[in-house]
Amino acid sequence: MGRMFGTNGVRGVINQDMNIQLAMQMGKAVGTVLHGIVAVATDTRMSADMLRAAVSAGLMSVGCDVVFLGAIPTPALQYYVKTNDAVACGIMITASHNPPEFNGIKVVAADGTEASKEQEAAIEDKYDEIIPEVPWNMVGGYRHVPGADDAYVDAVVSKLDREAIRAAGLTVVLDCANGAAFHTSPLLLRKLGVRAVTINGNPQGEFPGHPSEPTADNLTDLCRMVVDVHADLGIAHDGDADRCVFVDGNGNYIPGDKTLAILAKGIVMANGGGEVVTPVATSSVIDDVVGSVGGKVVRTAVGSPVVARKMMDDGGVFGGEENGGLIFPDHQYCRDGAMAIGRMLECIVRNGPLNFQTAALPTYYTEKRKMECPDDLKDAVLKFLESHTTIKNKDRTDGLKLITNDFWLLARPSGTEPIFRIYVESKDRDKAVKTADRYQKMVESFISSA
Ligand code: MG
Repeated sequence: MGRMFGTNGVRGVINQDMNIQLAMQMGKAVGTVLHGIVAVATDTRMSADMLRAAVSAGLMSVGCDVVFLGAIPTPALQYYVKTNDAVACGIMITASHNPPEFNGIKVVAADGTEASKEQEAAIEDKYDEIIPEVPWNMVGGYRHVPGADDAYVDAVVSKLDREAIRAAGLTVVLDCANGAAFHTSPLLLRKLGVRAVTINGNPQGEFPGHPSEPTADNLTDLCRMVVDVHADLGIAHDGDADRCVFVDGNGNYIPGDKTLAILAKGIVMANGGGEVVTPVATSSVIDDVVGSVGGKVVRTAVGSPVVARKMMDDGGVFGGEENGGLIFPDHQYCRDGAMAIGRMLECIVRNGPLNFQTAALPTYYTEKRKMECPDDLKDAVLKFLESHTTIKNKDRTDGLKLITNDFWLLARPSGTEPIFRIYVESKDRDKAVKTADRYQKMVESFISSA
């Protein structure tokens, strides 16, 4: 079978490339590699029960006890695994923001972080084997343990400035995408004394209630509702609520790089400095903002587990990606949608309305280009660009980043598709476009002549 795990676990279309045979073998493989009590949770997809049952059967057949936590956010499962020492690992049944016909399996390590590449590789290797089952008297048991969702919300609330948030008398509109946050995020807002109007908050409803990716185009109902009810903030989760995006009080969708910068500023100010971790692809707006309040930005390769690992190693105060995946180390080292809500509310209470805060940010323009590129040419394209560019400041953290005083360019092959991408960011739109044009031509002529 070879490599199964993508950047976010194993995913596929139900009863085509994701089915009960795969799920059961996956359960056997995970249970053999990370043996012990396994906590299992799902999002709200139609196929959740089917896959959960198959994964659990596989786990029990190799002697693992299964603790089923119900339909809860991925970070709630991660918090349960982290805080229960008897639990060896977690399995989340979710396909995050993918359309409803998809589902997937994601593995959580004993410390609550996403499984490492090494653990995933060991599970993949085991998956390809005939995995022996245990004798009849060693088969694992199955228990439904409710309450992980409430414990997670209590933990988030305990980290926040509850009095200040309550006193502000805020109103928000919350879009749960009929997903895993249906119980936790409304409960969180109630406990914080925030008036919340919830849309797509029905776990029995049609998942996810709008096209599945939490982008501006797919959140028009939320944006309109924020204006209609004069809310201070709009909040939207993806299907498993590890991510969170925001809408300001004027109904404007806030791009993830701006959210990252605003939260980073607030957290660095509250800490009196500190390190913020984000991948090489994130906008420079975060460097400007964090630098202005005495903090420092450190860049990593793309992927939230890499960001989380760097934060652990360096003692970073905040980290995240511009897709709404935000990591708060005082809670846990993984993307956390509920903590993101809490910290954003604090940020508004302390630093003013979100639209004022975004208006104060410097403006950058980004040009993104996508080219077809055979997998076996990807490295050669990178080497060609590296040796043919006139730009001296080169960074090979992930792909090739070229940095000058008035723009940066990131050339990066896709890890999963035969595609090569170029991003250019500059305060000068014309410069961004022309630079992207030039490098796109270089890449295309190299590929066509190769
Ligand atoms: Mg997600």
